[in-house]
Amino acid sequence: MDKLIERFLRYVSFETQSNSSVAHCPSTEGQRVLAEQLKNELIELELCDVELDENGYLMARLPSNVDHDVPAIGFIAHMDTAPDASGKDVKPQIVENYQGGDIALGVGDEVLSPIQYPDLNKLHGHNIITTDGTTLLGADNKAGVAEIITAIAYLKANPEIKHGDICIGFTPDEEIGRGANLFDVEKFGAKWAYTIDGGPVGELEYENFNASSADVICHGVNVHPGTAKNKMVNAMNIAAQFQLSMPAEETPECTEGYEGFYHLVAMEGGVAKTELHYILRDFDGESLERRKTFMQERVDELNSKLEKGRVELKITDSYRNMREMVEPHAHIIELAKEAMVECDVKPLIKPIRGGTDGARLSFMGLPCPNIFTGGYNFHGIHEFITVEGMEQAVKVIVKLAEKAASSNE
Ligand SMILES: [Zn+2]
Repeated sequence: MDKLIERFLRYVSFETQSNSSVAHCPSTEGQRVLAEQLKNELIELELCDVELDENGYLMARLPSNVDHDVPAIGFIAHMDTAPDASGKDVKPQIVENYQGGDIALGVGDEVLSPIQYPDLNKLHGHNIITTDGTTLLGADNKAGVAEIITAIAYLKANPEIKHGDICIGFTPDEEIGRGANLFDVEKFGAKWAYTIDGGPVGELEYENFNASSADVICHGVNVHPGTAKNKMVNAMNIAAQFQLSMPAEETPECTEGYEGFYHLVAMEGGVAKTELHYILRDFDGESLERRKTFMQERVDELNSKLEKGRVELKITDSYRNMREMVEPHAHIIELAKEAMVECDVKPLIKPIRGGTDGARLSFMGLPCPNIFTGGYNFHGIHEFITVEGMEQAVKVIVKLAEKAASSNE
């Protein structure tokens, strides 16, 4: 366990921000540099089949130490950090035995405040790792990487704990939605797996959004403004009318829990052409279909008012709710719940208001719920994690390995 924090601090020192504007995989060289480092650590731990492929996927296996057949299970984490905030020169600070109040982050006036983040009130007495207020921390998901490797090292050092084959996978480019794209499920070899990529202690997730994106393309006519009367059609005005026809309450800032939304993420253009980019999210597949229909109806309505088809709608499906793929294997959720309870962790089952690699992998034949890392406020400068939470994640991983060997599925 003493190596856990050492590992974590080492991994966050690597800059591994992913970049969606790059087509190849991994999207950034830093991810490969970290992958090479991890590969060497896995070799040093004498794991089997340690392999870093040309796309930056790192896999390895801790062989079974029982002589009967037990299911191989997997643990997965991603190596990249979110493009939303800098992940370069991360300088973590450790606040020991937190006693409440604001935590100053580095030199500026940036603080971590329990007024803004009431979760801090539950963490008195804990050791909290924060940023210095200028970068994200990278606990998402290097905490997961450190926890998995520490759990594997613990299992190796304690052979009296019986387990089957434990497959581990570290993926690139999760934050730009590509982490599962080139994941070789067959080579990985697990019957089911868990991503260790969740938040606060106890989180267990096997439901996520169904996701689509929608581009609304408005075509105008540009003419010199001095002679524009009855000729100019301003595409930006059409775009504004469209956006105003969308339900104002069904947006990320007005929804939570199982509520879905439409989210205008970008608008760009000028008089001649303006594009609106939306993402659509819903836990229920049929409701997502209704959202698509709703948008098409608004487009049709606007086109009929404009006397000419000036608005186009293009919809692309992104990912689906993994629930339908995980529920037929209810035992893998039960096993995770039991493992948590046996480690004195109260399972908190909640829907993920996003997607995970695990959701995609579940549809690729590897059922893959998500488990906590112990971290908070991912993707920004207020990201933090507790040492205690990370230790609990390691215990849960070890317990899962042990319990899977006695499960008869
Ligand atoms: Zn993550």
